[in-house]
Amino acid sequence: MSEKRIVVAIDGPAGAGKSTVARRVADRLGFVYINSGAMYRAVALWALRNGTNLNDMHRLEVLARTAKIEFGVGDGSVHLNGEDVTEALQTAEVSMAASQVSAVPGVRRALIPLQRGIAESSSVVMEGRDIGSVVFPDAKIKVYLDANPGERARRRTLELQGRGESADVEAVTASLRERDERDRTRREAPLLQAPDAQLIDTTGLSLDEVEDKVLQLVRLRTSNGKEVSR
Ligand code: C5P
Repeated sequence: MSEKRIVVAIDGPAGAGKSTVARRVADRLGFVYINSGAMYRAVALWALRNGTNLNDMHRLEVLARTAKIEFGVGDGSVHLNGEDVTEALQTAEVSMAASQVSAVPGVRRALIPLQRGIAESSSVVMEGRDIGSVVFPDAKIKVYLDANPGERARRRTLELQGRGESADVEAVTASLRERDERDRTRREAPLLQAPDAQLIDTTGLSLDEVEDKVLQLVRLRTSNGKEVSR
């Protein structure tokens, strides 16, 4: 990676506000925003569509290696094999399948080089579960976003309802708990706060406040942003 390229790594559990904050921070800095979860979701969607058994690790790895996953420039869209699947990736069914698919070591081995490759040509804000711990252990800026489980479930419920999905807070709470548990306890790249990541508890904070905290950290860790390069 070119030395001037900057990686802002944002990790944390589901519903902590990562996507919204990462997108806003990327906009402010003029960096590329990458939602690594969308890549696991894309593989999961493909597996669900073609009836792949989610316990078939070999087949899932083949799907991850052959999937053509692309991010639209600046519009947040995600394309799988040429099709715009942005909306299709957001269902509760795909969320749960992504959490299963992402525990497969071969799937991670296929997707991580793609994530690293994107940061070779541009500065990025990348969000996920293992960005600061595994994908970019040398990232200058690492943030771990968290919020209490009740607030995370409430946010995710509103988000799903906003998309017209039927979602009630109890079902979402149960689903988040199951996903978090699987993400935290898997062998490969479990969700954890990297030792050098800054913890930001977003419970009760506005988006503006969280964005400011992340931008402050970027300034602090990049000599006041002077060496920031796009
Ligand atoms: O972030 P999002 O909720 O879209 O991610 C979907 C799933 O993908 C997560 O529950 C997690 O299992 C997996 N994931 C991962 N590593 C990442 C990003 C997402 O394992 N870097």
